[in-house]
Amino acid sequence: MNYYSTPIARLIDEFTKLPGIGRKTAQRLAFHVIRIPLEEAEMLSQAIVEAKASIKYCSICTNLTDKDICNICSDKKRDEGILCIVEDPRDVVAMEKTKEFHGYYHVLHGVISPLEGIGPEEIKIKELLARLTHQEVKEVVLATNPNIEGEATAMYIAKLLKPMGIKVTRIAYGIPVGGDLEYADEITLSKALEGRREL
Ligand SMILES: [Zn+2]
Repeated sequence: MNYYSTPIARLIDEFTKLPGIGRKTAQRLAFHVIRIPLEEAEMLSQAIVEAKASIKYCSICTNLTDKDICNICSDKKRDEGILCIVEDPRDVVAMEKTKEFHGYYHVLHGVISPLEGIGPEEIKIKELLARLTHQEVKEVVLATNPNIEGEATAMYIAKLLKPMGIKVTRIAYGIPVGGDLEYADEITLSKALEGRREL
Protein backbone atom coordinates (compact mmCIF):
# COMPACT_ATOMS: atom_id res chain seq x y z
CA MET A 1 0.00 0.00 0.00
CA ASN A 2 0.95 3.63 -0.50
CA TYR A 3 1.91 5.43 2.68
CA TYR A 4 2.31 8.80 1.01
CA SER A 5 -0.07 10.87 -1.08
CA THR A 6 0.76 10.77 -4.79
CA PRO A 7 2.57 14.17 -5.08
CA ILE A 8 4.84 13.33 -2.13
CA ALA A 9 5.51 9.82 -3.42
CA ARG A 10 6.39 11.31 -6.80
CA LEU A 11 8.78 13.82 -5.27
CA ILE A 12 10.47 11.05 -3.27
CA ASP A 13 10.80 8.97 -6.48
CA GLU A 14 12.41 11.89 -8.32
CA PHE A 15 14.95 12.49 -5.53
CA THR A 16 15.78 8.76 -5.45
CA LYS A 17 16.97 9.05 -9.07
CA LEU A 18 19.74 11.49 -8.04
CA PRO A 19 23.27 10.09 -7.57
CA GLY A 20 24.12 9.16 -4.01
CA ILE A 21 20.55 9.65 -2.77
CA GLY A 22 18.99 6.63 -1.08
CA ARG A 23 15.33 6.18 -0.15
CA LYS A 24 15.74 7.68 3.34
CA THR A 25 17.56 10.81 2.12
CA ALA A 26 14.99 11.20 -0.67
CA GLN A 27 12.19 11.17 1.93
CA ARG A 28 14.03 13.74 4.04
CA LEU A 29 14.54 16.02 1.01
CA ALA A 30 10.91 15.63 -0.08
CA PHE A 31 9.61 16.63 3.35
CA HIS A 32 12.06 19.51 3.42
CA VAL A 33 10.64 20.78 0.13
CA ILE A 34 7.09 20.43 1.46
CA ARG A 35 7.97 22.55 4.50
CA ILE A 36 9.81 25.43 2.77
CA PRO A 37 7.87 28.51 1.53
CA LEU A 38 6.47 28.26 -2.01
CA GLU A 39 8.87 30.96 -3.32
CA GLU A 40 11.85 28.94 -2.15
CA ALA A 41 10.53 25.81 -3.83
CA GLU A 42 9.99 27.83 -7.02
CA MET A 43 13.56 29.14 -6.88
CA LEU A 44 14.82 25.56 -6.62
CA SER A 45 12.78 24.28 -9.53
CA GLN A 46 13.64 27.33 -11.67
CA ALA A 47 17.35 26.92 -10.95
CA ILE A 48 17.15 23.31 -12.16
CA VAL A 49 15.20 24.14 -15.33
CA GLU A 50 17.32 27.23 -16.17
CA ALA A 51 20.62 25.38 -15.67
CA LYS A 52 19.34 22.57 -17.84
CA ALA A 53 18.14 24.95 -20.57
CA SER A 54 21.17 27.26 -20.71
CA ILE A 55 24.16 24.95 -20.19
CA LYS A 56 25.87 23.57 -23.29
CA TYR A 57 29.29 22.33 -24.39
CA CYS A 58 32.01 24.93 -25.06
CA SER A 59 32.69 24.74 -28.79
CA ILE A 60 36.45 24.56 -28.13
CA CYS A 61 37.10 22.51 -24.97
CA THR A 62 33.65 20.84 -24.51
CA ASN A 63 33.49 22.05 -20.89
CA LEU A 64 30.03 23.03 -19.71
CA THR A 65 29.20 26.70 -20.20
CA ASP A 66 26.28 29.04 -20.87
CA LYS A 67 28.22 30.72 -23.71
CA ASP A 68 29.50 29.43 -27.08
CA ILE A 69 33.06 29.68 -25.80
CA CYS A 70 33.72 29.20 -22.07
CA ASN A 71 35.55 31.71 -19.83
CA ILE A 72 38.78 29.72 -19.82
CA CYS A 73 38.93 29.35 -23.63
CA SER A 74 38.14 33.08 -23.96
CA ASP A 75 41.11 33.97 -21.71
CA LYS A 76 43.85 34.97 -24.18
CA LYS A 77 46.53 35.23 -21.46
CA ARG A 78 46.82 31.48 -21.13
CA ASP A 79 49.52 29.30 -22.71
CA GLU A 80 48.04 27.77 -25.83
CA GLY A 81 50.98 25.40 -26.18
CA ILE A 82 49.76 23.21 -23.31
CA LEU A 83 46.51 21.32 -23.04
CA CYS A 84 45.27 19.43 -19.98
CA ILE A 85 42.87 16.53 -20.64
CA VAL A 86 40.36 15.77 -17.88
CA GLU A 87 37.42 13.42 -17.50
CA ASP A 88 34.89 15.75 -16.03
CA PRO A 89 34.04 19.49 -15.76
CA ARG A 90 34.54 19.22 -11.99
CA ASP A 91 38.17 18.25 -12.63
CA VAL A 92 38.71 21.57 -14.44
CA VAL A 93 37.57 23.36 -11.28
CA ALA A 94 39.88 21.19 -9.17
CA MET A 95 42.84 21.98 -11.48
CA GLU A 96 42.04 25.70 -11.56
CA LYS A 97 42.08 25.80 -7.75
CA THR A 98 45.75 24.73 -7.74
CA LYS A 99 46.61 27.94 -9.69
CA GLU A 100 49.55 25.90 -11.10
CA PHE A 101 48.18 25.24 -14.54
CA HIS A 102 48.04 28.06 -17.07
CA GLY A 103 47.24 26.27 -20.27
CA TYR A 104 43.88 25.28 -21.69
CA TYR A 105 41.70 22.22 -21.06
CA HIS A 106 39.85 19.55 -22.93
CA VAL A 107 37.00 17.75 -21.17
CA LEU A 108 36.34 14.14 -22.20
CA HIS A 109 33.02 13.71 -20.36
CA GLY A 110 33.87 10.19 -19.30
CA VAL A 111 36.50 7.49 -19.76
CA ILE A 112 36.80 4.43 -21.92
CA SER A 113 35.18 1.56 -20.02
CA PRO A 114 34.53 -1.64 -21.99
CA LEU A 115 32.66 -3.11 -19.00
CA GLU A 116 30.12 -0.30 -19.15
CA GLY A 117 30.08 -0.32 -22.93
CA ILE A 118 31.81 3.07 -23.22
CA GLY A 119 34.19 3.14 -26.18
CA PRO A 120 36.39 5.98 -27.50
CA GLU A 121 33.49 7.24 -29.67
CA GLU A 122 31.34 7.85 -26.60
CA ILE A 123 33.71 10.41 -25.09
CA LYS A 124 35.07 13.65 -26.58
CA ILE A 125 38.21 12.24 -28.24
CA LYS A 126 37.18 13.14 -31.82
CA GLU A 127 36.75 16.75 -30.70
CA LEU A 128 40.24 16.66 -29.18
CA LEU A 129 41.80 15.33 -32.39
CA ALA A 130 39.94 17.90 -34.51
CA ARG A 131 41.18 20.64 -32.23
CA LEU A 132 44.79 19.46 -32.43
CA THR A 133 44.78 19.70 -36.22
CA HIS A 134 44.44 23.49 -36.07
CA GLN A 135 45.77 24.43 -32.63
CA GLU A 136 49.55 24.63 -32.12
CA VAL A 137 49.90 22.40 -29.02
CA LYS A 138 53.36 21.37 -27.77
CA GLU A 139 52.34 19.35 -24.74
CA VAL A 140 49.25 17.43 -23.72
CA VAL A 141 48.93 16.61 -20.01
CA LEU A 142 46.74 13.58 -19.41
CA ALA A 143 44.96 14.20 -16.12
CA THR A 144 42.41 11.40 -16.14
CA ASN A 145 41.87 9.74 -12.76
CA PRO A 146 44.53 7.26 -11.59
CA ASN A 147 42.29 4.20 -11.75
CA ILE A 148 42.01 1.41 -14.34
CA GLU A 149 39.69 3.28 -16.74
CA GLY A 150 41.55 6.57 -16.33
CA GLU A 151 44.91 4.88 -17.05
CA ALA A 152 43.52 2.98 -20.04
CA THR A 153 42.02 6.18 -21.48
CA ALA A 154 45.32 8.04 -20.98
CA MET A 155 47.24 5.26 -22.76
CA TYR A 156 44.74 5.23 -25.61
CA ILE A 157 45.01 9.00 -26.15
CA ALA A 158 48.82 8.91 -25.79
CA LYS A 159 49.00 6.36 -28.62
CA LEU A 160 46.90 8.60 -30.86
CA LEU A 161 48.87 11.77 -30.13
CA LYS A 162 52.46 10.57 -30.21
CA PRO A 163 52.57 10.13 -34.02
CA MET A 164 51.38 13.74 -34.26
CA GLY A 165 54.68 14.85 -32.70
CA ILE A 166 53.06 16.16 -29.53
CA LYS A 167 54.76 15.67 -26.15
CA VAL A 168 52.37 13.62 -24.03
CA THR A 169 52.69 13.68 -20.24
CA ARG A 170 50.71 12.03 -17.46
CA ILE A 171 50.13 13.45 -13.99
CA ALA A 172 51.94 11.24 -11.50
CA TYR A 173 52.24 10.96 -7.74
CA GLY A 174 50.13 12.87 -5.31
CA ILE A 175 46.74 11.50 -6.21
CA PRO A 176 46.05 8.20 -4.41
CA VAL A 177 45.38 5.22 -6.68
CA GLY A 178 41.65 4.66 -6.91
CA GLY A 179 41.15 8.29 -5.85
CA ASP A 180 39.13 11.00 -7.54
CA LEU A 181 40.66 14.21 -8.92
CA GLU A 182 37.64 16.14 -7.80
CA TYR A 183 38.27 15.36 -4.13
CA ALA A 184 42.03 15.96 -4.07
CA ASP A 185 43.22 19.05 -2.18
CA GLU A 186 45.17 21.81 -3.97
CA ILE A 187 48.61 20.71 -2.70
CA THR A 188 48.08 17.09 -3.73
CA LEU A 189 46.93 18.22 -7.16
CA SER A 190 49.82 20.63 -7.72
CA LYS A 191 52.27 17.88 -6.68
CA ALA A 192 50.63 15.57 -9.19
CA LEU A 193 50.99 18.22 -11.88
CA GLU A 194 54.67 18.86 -10.98
CA GLY A 195 55.46 15.14 -11.15
CA ARG A 196 53.88 14.48 -14.54
CA ARG A 197 55.94 12.25 -16.82
CA GLU A 198 56.20 11.73 -20.52
CA LEU A 199 54.42 8.67 -21.92
ZN1 LIG B 1 36.17 26.10 -23.38
